[in-house]
Amino acid sequence: MTDTACPRRDSFVMRVGWLLDGTGRPARKGVRLTVVGGVVQDLRPAAEAAPVEDLPVLDASENTVIPGLVDAHVHLFMSSAADPAVRQAQLNASYSQLRPVMRGHLAQHLAAGVVAVRDGGDYGGFALRLRREMGASPGPVQVRAAGRAWRREGRYGSLIGRPVACGRDLARAVAMEDAPGDHLKIVNSGLNSLTDFGRQTPTQFGVDELRAAVAEGLRRGRRTMVHANGSEAVRVAAEAGAHSVEHGFFMGTDNLARLADRQVVWVPTAVAMQGYLRHAGPDSREADVCRRNLEHQLEQLRVARQKGVRVALGTDAGTLGVGHGAALREEIALVMEAGYSLAEALECASLQGARLMGLGGQGVLRPGWAATLVVLPGPPTALPGSLAAPRAVLVDGLPVGPAADGGPGEGRSMP
Ligand SMILES: [Zn+2]
Repeated sequence: MTDTACPRRDSFVMRVGWLLDGTGRPARKGVRLTVVGGVVQDLRPAAEAAPVEDLPVLDASENTVIPGLVDAHVHLFMSSAADPAVRQAQLNASYSQLRPVMRGHLAQHLAAGVVAVRDGGDYGGFALRLRREMGASPGPVQVRAAGRAWRREGRYGSLIGRPVACGRDLARAVAMEDAPGDHLKIVNSGLNSLTDFGRQTPTQFGVDELRAAVAEGLRRGRRTMVHANGSEAVRVAAEAGAHSVEHGFFMGTDNLARLADRQVVWVPTAVAMQGYLRHAGPDSREADVCRRNLEHQLEQLRVARQKGVRVALGTDAGTLGVGHGAALREEIALVMEAGYSLAEALECASLQGARLMGLGGQGVLRPGWAATLVVLPGPPTALPGSLAAPRAVLVDGLPVGPAADGGPGEGRSMP
C-alpha cells in the first residue's frame, strides 16, 4: 500500500477560525495549522500564501482550537457523587471494582477536552496501579499518579494515603517505598473548616523533615506535590522546596510572594470549595463558610496573578460535587472571575499543568510541539462553556474523542 493510497491520518492542514495557543497570548483569528506526523509543523495567518502541501484539509473555520487540557489534581478512585452509599462503597472497594470506575472517569476527562491528569493519591494506590497496567499502551488521557500519599500518624489523609510508620522519619519512609509513584504526594495540613471561616490546622511535618523527603524524591526522579492549607503549612512546603502547593487556602500574601520567588507552582483547586457549596444546605452556616472560603481563594488568585505566581489548574475531581472533566471548565470560569483573561486561564490549564507533570513538548500549539488539541464550537467568547461539548479531541494529530468517528473529516466543517 502506498502513501498516496493510505495517507497518514496524523498529517493534515486545518483551517482554524480562532486559535488560543496555550501561551497566554490572546486568540488569533483565521489561522492555517499544518500538522505532519502528529506534530505541529506550521502556523500562519490563513490569508498568507502557504506552501503547497499534499495534505487533507480540515475545516474548523467556525471553531476555536485550544491545546489539550491538563487537570493537575484529581483523585481517579472517587466519583463526585453525593450519594453517601456510593461514596462509602468507593472507600471500601477493591482494585478490580474500581478499575472500570477509574476508566470511566478518564473517559469523562477526555469528553471535556482533558488529555492529561495528575492523580493526588488514594489509600490503595489504585490510580498508580492502573497507570502501571496501561504501561506501554496508555489510552488517550495520560495519567501520572502519586500512589499512596504520606501523612503523619493520626492526622488528616487516610483516604488518600498512609501514615509514616512510628519511629521512622518521612525521608526514610520515602526511600523505602514499595510502590513508588510518578511523583510524591505529602499531606502537610488538615482540610479547610466548613464551619469556622479561616480556621487553620497545624502542619504535619517541619521544614527540615519535608526538605529531606523532597530531596529523597528527587534522587528517585520524582517531584513533590504538597497538600497545604494555612500560612504555616504553605510556608513550610515552599521553604522545603516542594514543587507544587495544592489548595493553599488561607496561605496569605507573604506566601504568595514566596511561591513567586521560588517558582513553586500553586494548584488552587477553587472549584472544590464550589463543590462543597453546591451540596451545603441553603442558608446553612456551612454554605456561608464555603462561600466565604471560595471568595477568599479568588482574592488570593487576584494577588497571585499580580505577583506572577505560576498557577496550574487542578480540580480535586472526585471530591464531593467535583466531577471528573467538567470541573476543569468550572475552575477556568473561577480563575477568570478572579481577573485572569481567558488566554491566561487556558495557559494555567494547559502549559503550566503539562510542565508540572513533566510532559515535554505538550501544552502549547507551536511548531515542533505535539498536535494535541481540542476543537470547540464557536468563537472564543463561547468559552469556557463550549468546553462542555468539544467537537473533536486530537492527540498527536489523531482524533480520539469525544466521538473519534465524528472527528474532523476532510472537507467537512465542524459545527
Ligand atoms: Zn486532593
